[in-house]
Amino acid sequence: MKFEEIKSDEQRYMVHAYGRFDAALVSGKGAVAKDSEGREYVDFTSGIGVNSLGYCDEGWTKAVSEQAATLQHISNLYYSPLQTDVAKKLCELSGMKKVFLCNSGAEANECAIKIARKYSFDKYGSGRQKIVTLVNSFHGRTVTTLAATGQDVFHDFFFPFTEGFDYAKANDIDDLKAKLTDDVCALFVELIQGEGGVMPLEKEFVTAAAALCKEKDILLMIDEVQTGISRTGHFFCYQGYELQPDVVTAAKGLGGGLPIGACLCHDKTENVMQPGQHGTTFGGNPIACAAAREVLSRVAEPAFLKDVREKGEYIRSKLQNIGNVKEVRGQGLMIGIVTEKDNAKEMAAKCLQNGLLILTAKNLLRMLPPLTITYDEIDKGLAILKNTMEA
Ligand SMILES: *Cc1c(COP(=O)(O)O)cnc(C)c1O
Repeated sequence: MKFEEIKSDEQRYMVHAYGRFDAALVSGKGAVAKDSEGREYVDFTSGIGVNSLGYCDEGWTKAVSEQAATLQHISNLYYSPLQTDVAKKLCELSGMKKVFLCNSGAEANECAIKIARKYSFDKYGSGRQKIVTLVNSFHGRTVTTLAATGQDVFHDFFFPFTEGFDYAKANDIDDLKAKLTDDVCALFVELIQGEGGVMPLEKEFVTAAAALCKEKDILLMIDEVQTGISRTGHFFCYQGYELQPDVVTAAKGLGGGLPIGACLCHDKTENVMQPGQHGTTFGGNPIACAAAREVLSRVAEPAFLKDVREKGEYIRSKLQNIGNVKEVRGQGLMIGIVTEKDNAKEMAAKCLQNGLLILTAKNLLRMLPPLTITYDEIDKGLAILKNTMEA
């Protein structure tokens, strides 16, 4: 099918929830995608941080197709060795204690929010259910995770939103202190705000915040939906800080392209949910778990993590020599680029025309390439970026 036909069918039959780039992607290999017209693109997006191992990685494809031919779905009424493998591996790699499996980042965050409120209710009774998140955060698109998201633009239209959220300024410990009142049960943060424009939290702030939480028995919950699964060069970004979260959420890169999310609990939270209090039909689906098991067996090896950090540094250093680049932020293979001309959206559209897929976040260009991207693919992509930025 030709692009114009696909586009017109999209406009005719699909809800217009997205502003899309003018390309229909139909196949891919590694960090190269192909569109309906046979054009190739270097991919610096990995489907918004999802395809950790790139397109159609051999091991991943084998794991998924073998599982599809063995058992595609059971329900959570039965035990699954794939679920237990994924949960065990997540615990081993993070030091967390127990895992709830779901299908997306927003769902993992919903689970975290429910756990925080129930933890506090079980221990202190009602009246201590408020959750503090950060200004400029992003936590998802459900009504509750929109409420958790600390950006006014997400608080339109869909009233009434879930109550019980308050927003503290990132990197402002005095503001956080003032917001952590006696009715707060949890602090919920991204360590690098992704959709907010690749904004890292300062170590000092994070350390002080963690100490405050500990002192007041406020749960420290980290949204690692974008930063997790080796994206930043640590398996979880928080492992680069000295802190022990009570809850960690993951999704995007976990399944390497299939929908799976996870809510990880530590000592305080591992037994909060009891049978019947939370659930999902698809969560922990065997095919998604087979995909996640393959991803987890690959991306957390020390050599792999080192490679992610080195590739990140390589890209950041090369970006310094590109015109129209004003500032480069981020960690590992999560990179934000502020442009001199404040024209990131226009640059992203031009990059597509020139054969490069790249994301934006706020008014930044954002790169979340597959973790397995090769130096050759990086160089090809950066050359297109340079030509586009300097044209
Ligand atoms: C993408 C994202 C989410 C939402 O994940 P979905 O899978 O789209 O529901 C939540 N938090 C962060 C930090 C994200 O980057």
